[in-house]
This record gives sequence, structure tokens and C-alpha cells, in this order.
Amino acid sequence: MVIIMQAGAPESEVDAVLAAVEKAGFRPWVNPGVERKVIALLGAMDAEKAELVDHFSALPGVERVTLISEPYKLASRRTRAESTVIQVGPVSIGGNELAIVAGPCSIENREQMFEAARAVKESGANLLRGGAFKPRTSPYSFQGLGVSGLQLLAEAGKATELPTVTEVLHPDDLEVIAEYADVIQVGARNMQNFRLLQDVGQVGKPVILKRNPGCRIQDLLMASEYIMLEGNPNVVLCERGITSFENATRYTLDLNAVPVIKRFSHLPVIVDPSHAAGDWRYVTAIALGAIAAGADGIMVEVHPNPASALSDGPQSLRPEKFQELMDALAPVAAAVGRRVAQPTLPRVGEDAGE
Ligand code: PEP
Ligand code: MN
Repeated sequence: MVIIMQAGAPESEVDAVLAAVEKAGFRPWVNPGVERKVIALLGAMDAEKAELVDHFSALPGVERVTLISEPYKLASRRTRAESTVIQVGPVSIGGNELAIVAGPCSIENREQMFEAARAVKESGANLLRGGAFKPRTSPYSFQGLGVSGLQLLAEAGKATELPTVTEVLHPDDLEVIAEYADVIQVGARNMQNFRLLQDVGQVGKPVILKRNPGCRIQDLLMASEYIMLEGNPNVVLCERGITSFENATRYTLDLNAVPVIKRFSHLPVIVDPSHAAGDWRYVTAIALGAIAAGADGIMVEVHPNPASALSDGPQSLRPEKFQELMDALAPVAAAVGRRVAQPTLPRVGEDAGE
């Protein structure tokens, strides 16, 4: 249930509604809204409680009360009609400008991280990714550099003036990750690690929540609800491919998820073509399709030398291929009313003074 207040309803009326909501046994959640306040009722809504619609509708300052059929409340567009724009330093995710998250799958060493950071910045990325704690199928595979990797990511981010994104695997690592990174990524494998989601919700950093390949769109929205319920409204959803019978690619990108999420939720949604395809050859085409479909950005793996990558080399773009992707993306973005950030570093070989 959401209670929509009249435009300009005084604070005293809002407070009276909040008190009535609490008295009825719900936790109220207020969305300030641009024009009018919307109060969402959090808690189990059985048929009897649904009869409270009339009770709340009669309170002074209330414009109308609607029942939300979706099980997610905070992520629902009914609670917040306008699309959420998340600020990460100078970058807005969900606004007119696209979020271009790029960088290596794993942070491997200083040279690799800095080379990747410089390259993606030159091509117009506005967020830098790199994994320090890696979820690997095999325990014998490279597990990430841990804290020393976070330090390299932070240094590379600072050098290129790019906010950073990195994945958390375990709640114990959250504090140190929050110290070094600007955005916390919850990977596909942990999308339904509910305790981790709750802990992430208590950290005051934006979150990129990736869809588990075996989960429905609604499950992804419910997972975002766990984070938001802890007081962190800054969740970016990421479609990265689901499991299907098709085996020509690593996963099957569910591009439907983009317009579906846009319809039912106000949260920004980005697409990761690298993990969806598992092969660098398809990454650009999928990225263009994602933006054309209305995604707020992309997350792309870029490595200076994919053949030597310690993880996900086959799906990583070389810097020059990433530049080609960005060149191809600009007109597609423009065609759907979006913009790609202008690179602020000169491209290699270009004169900074001219
Ligand atoms: C990643 O971004 O490197 C990653 C592990 O992605 P996913 O969780 O989508 O598999
Ligand atoms: Mn990867």
C-alpha cells in the first residue's frame, strides 16, 4: 500500500499519517518526491489490513491510497514514479548521460590496472571496475589480490579521476572495500545472499546488484529490496545474462529485462555484455543493443592484454576494441536521447595542448 499525499501537504499532516501507519502495525517509508510525498507501508499486507485503505484515505492531506500488488515496495515505480538517478562523485547513473563501467575482470598488478584505467578513461568510460575478491568456480583459480588489489584500484581511480567499482564476496570485507571503492558490486552468485545484501544496505555507498543467471527479474527486484530496506536507496540493477539451453555463448542476455525493469521499477539498470557473451567478439553488438533498449549504461571488461588475463580473458576487450565500441555507441545513444561522456584525457598520440 502507498499513501500519496496532496501536493504541499503540511508537515503536521504528514506526521499524523506516519503515526497512523505505525499504529496500524506497519513501518512507514517516506519518498520525498519532487511534487508530493509518497508514504510506502512496509510489512505483511493481509486481506484484513488492505481494508485500511478507507481509513488512510480519510486522513487530512491524503490525496489517494493505492494497493501495490508487487511484493517489492521500495523498488516499485508505484512508490516512486520518477526514475532514480544515483550520484557517484561527478557521475550520475540513471540520468541522461550513460554510465560506462569499464576495466579488467580482476586487478592483477599495478601496470595492468593503470594501463586499463588510462585506456578506458581515454575512450570515455566514466567508472572504473576491477575485482580484488573474485568469485571463481574453481578454488584453484586466481582468487584476486584482496586488499592490495583494492589499493591499486583506488590509486588508478584517483590517477584517472574515475570513481571505482569492485565486488564484495563476504561481509567481513565490506569495511575495507568501502574504504577504498566508490561503488560496491554484489555479483551474480551472491544476488540471493540475503545477509550480505542486508550488510551492504548498511554501507553508505551505491551498489551495483547483478542478476543471478538462474533468477527471475522479480527475484532481482526483491534482492534490491533487501538493500534498500536497510536504508540504502542507491541500487543499480545489472542484467548480465541468464542460463538457457543455448551454448554458443556463455549465458543468454535477457534484454527483455531492461524494459521490464524500467516499467516496474524506478531503479537504474545497466547491462554487462562481457559476462553475457563470454566472447569479446559479441560484446560491442550486445552493448549497442542494450543502450538501444533503454539501459542506463553498460559494464564492460577491458584488459591491456586479454591473452595473459588471470580471469575472463576470452571475453575481455583490448583497449582499441573498447575504443571502437565507444565510437559505435555514441550515435546509438544519441538516437535514443542519451549521451556518452566526453573523454577528458587526450587519446594516446594526441597533443594535450591542441
Ligand atoms: C564480474 O563482474 O567480474 C563477475 C564476476 O560478474 P558476475 O557476478 O556477473 O558473474
Ligand atoms: Mn569477470
